[in-house]
Amino acid sequence: MFRNLITTLARHQVKWVICGSCEGNGKVGNPSFDQGWTSSEWAEEDDDFKEGYLAGEYDIPCRDCRSSGKVLVPDMSQLTFGEKRPFAEARKEARERAEWERISAAERRMGA
Ligand SMILES: [Zn+2]
Repeated sequence: MFRNLITTLARHQVKWVICGSCEGNGKVGNPSFDQGWTSSEWAEEDDDFKEGYLAGEYDIPCRDCRSSGKVLVPDMSQLTFGEKRPFAEARKEARERAEWERISAAERRMGA
């Protein structure tokens, strides 16, 4: 979410960290399997599928780090107050957007 902002910073003002979305794997579990499995559903799948699934063959590339397993983040200790501000604002916006999406999803579930 900081990608555009980060390009405005000098090299010593940014650092690479392990991507929190995929924990550095560069891929994440396929969201269509996110609901998890009931034991009867699992029993219905064939062994090839189960093996592949457990080996991560159905994982999808991580969007947050573009499969690299690491993300560039601002090194806040290297930023001036003025430079930090847009990051703080972007973070606040993202939080508000997430909150909004959470509320509207809940409303959709209630049939609003
Ligand atoms: Zn990632």
